[in-house]
Amino acid sequence: MHPDEPLAKYFRLIAPQQSALRRLGILTVRDLLYHFPSRHERAGASASTEQLVPGTKVTLVGQLSKLEAKRLWKSRRPATEGWFTDESGRVKVMWFNQPYMAKMAPQEVPVRLTGTVGGSAEKPYITNPEVVAVTAGDLASGLFKTDNEAEARLEIFPIYPETRGITSKWFYHALKRIFEAKGHEIEDPLPADIRERYHLPDLATSFLWMHVPEEERHAQAARKRFAFEEIFTIQVSRAKDRAENAALPSFRITDAASHAETFLKTIPFEPTNAQKRAIAEIITDFEKPHPMARLLEGDVGSGKTLVAAASAYAVVHSRPPGRISGTLQVAYMAPTEILATQHFQSFIEYFKDLPINIALITGSGARKFPSKSKRGAATDISRAQLLKWIANGEIAMLVGTHALIQKKVGFQHLAYAIVDEQHRFGTRQRRELAHKGDAAPHFLSMTATPIPRTLALTLYGDLDLSILDELPPGRAKIETRIIMPKERAKAYEKMHEELEKGRQAYVICPRINEPDPAKMNALQAKSAKAEALRLQKDVFPEYEVGLLHGGMKPREKDAVMEKFDRGEIHILVATSVVEVGINVPNATVIMIEGAERFGLAQLHQLRGRVQRSTHTPFCFLLPESKGEMTMKRLKALEKSSDGFKLAEADLETRGAGDLYGTRQWGMSDLGIEALQNVRLIQAARGEAMSLVEGDPTLARHSVLLRRVAAAGALHRE
Ligand code: ADP
Ligand code: MG
Repeated sequence: MHPDEPLAKYFRLIAPQQSALRRLGILTVRDLLYHFPSRHERAGASASTEQLVPGTKVTLVGQLSKLEAKRLWKSRRPATEGWFTDESGRVKVMWFNQPYMAKMAPQEVPVRLTGTVGGSAEKPYITNPEVVAVTAGDLASGLFKTDNEAEARLEIFPIYPETRGITSKWFYHALKRIFEAKGHEIEDPLPADIRERYHLPDLATSFLWMHVPEEERHAQAARKRFAFEEIFTIQVSRAKDRAENAALPSFRITDAASHAETFLKTIPFEPTNAQKRAIAEIITDFEKPHPMARLLEGDVGSGKTLVAAASAYAVVHSRPPGRISGTLQVAYMAPTEILATQHFQSFIEYFKDLPINIALITGSGARKFPSKSKRGAATDISRAQLLKWIANGEIAMLVGTHALIQKKVGFQHLAYAIVDEQHRFGTRQRRELAHKGDAAPHFLSMTATPIPRTLALTLYGDLDLSILDELPPGRAKIETRIIMPKERAKAYEKMHEELEKGRQAYVICPRINEPDPAKMNALQAKSAKAEALRLQKDVFPEYEVGLLHGGMKPREKDAVMEKFDRGEIHILVATSVVEVGINVPNATVIMIEGAERFGLAQLHQLRGRVQRSTHTPFCFLLPESKGEMTMKRLKALEKSSDGFKLAEADLETRGAGDLYGTRQWGMSDLGIEALQNVRLIQAARGEAMSLVEGDPTLARHSVLLRRVAAAGALHRE
């Protein structure tokens, strides 16, 4: 079997299996080998029939008997029923809608059974279990220990992430066939000396130890190896990006320091020390002949826009090389139309006395400042006209959404690209921007998402870091409180008080629509739509309640945001779309429903929405459940206002999950788990940097290069 041939060539796949595999991104033999179990379990260790807890998932080892196909008493739906016996007793098993299990499941032989406990503690049963027979025949491949076979095989086994249409059992058998076949071997991307230094098993051994381990320590060694491989691969790709970037030509920005200083004199406040430091770091980069690649990380409200504006100001004062008129160009990309529009307004405010043109481009149109007809105002213009002016250099500063990186947008001298909330943008978009000009632009990425250090070192290994670790003075400290159901009325009272003082409020809900009642676990999550109706009718009839969610059209969203901005909407009920950068200083209360559904860093960002002014802001967290873990996590938020600390706590308490978009960047559970291991991250980073330094194009590491290229398609796109 060739590793890069499609699985369909070697396996007969039924339609549901095909679509399940496609969903998991498993197309080839290689993909399947790299599809790792989410965990390894010790057989039998998970539970015995004596101590079953309803609602939990268990694995039991024993025998099935008396399996019978029947119809359920009330619904008349087909099912299989029978008994499962282990050393400590027996329990009823049921397969709904699977009458064929009566014939198919092996009876009176040792099996491993994995399923969910239903019923009550007194009368439990197991529903829809997966069954794997553990017979001597299964062990004959020679892959497994041969002495005391049954037990050796049972010692530890892999559990694959569950997906509709395909079972752990299928993975187990398919992988077994691959291991038995010839030619499936893949060359090891990890250089041997690195493997030796960290005692990592080679690739072939690691696949075996991952998928069919004989011993727990083997499974662990394989997990460690693949975690290292994943992090190392990302690090190598970042080190390569960094080296490539450092070799490109860029625009030299002249007199940047004095221009920035002039700009700072025009604003009505004193920049914080952190802002001054970040501006200085950027300006130092501007004077080098190669493009800056920098990440500006600062909590919500730390004033990142000012840093962007001061540096952009210097750029729009620079002439293109060899020219006596015109200016270099700046592009500022924001993740939403609302934000792009807000920033367009801010930049008009900042730069209104300069003889330059500022423009806005979004999915719904284009605007330009100053207007020819209305002095001191912006005006709608046609897209075609704007594109012309961008191309001939007349627009010095362009603000926009993704629309800004479309093919049709061509700059004359794009010298500086700023991306706000960069976790929404990746290397690809950055490259696209870079290709828009004759030299690579200086690049500044800004984010308010506090990222754990290990993640920053990994995913942003190609960027230099500037941190705003200081809020502008005079900000009142936010009061964060966990509100239990019986205190809800009190929270509304507080909200009333604030509204009466003329302030505004956010109510954040985890869902857009009323849940589909069939989906059990979504049942409780409050929906923004229903909550907006309820608040308007029952709780705040005398105030205007507005609704904002990701399902709305950009124009609708803008209209609502503008109304909220003008104070015509008093309470804005929203999904987490307000998470990124919306700025309404008059809002002083935020109430977060289903708070436990959000990550700590995300909650921290949400509450930052009300930390814009000098009034004491309030954040009410309303959890829907009160498990120990939920309370512990939310209490961390009550106590700490340090985004970075919360980010670290997130990493520990949420474990794998869509942490900071890690999933979106293609990181596996294993890689995410590894982010908790500072030593592993540092080792992988150190090795990656020295390898790329010695072999910048990876010409002498072709297997690794292919691995990096394959991963590059996923990471940070
Ligand atoms: P963020 O880092 O979240 O993007 P913003 O740039 O939107 O923060 O700044 C938040 C608010 O703080 C804005 O209203 C801005 O004008 C104000 N601000 C920024 N820097 C300072 C400062 N040094 N002193 C006082 N206010 C500031
Ligand atoms: Mg911002």
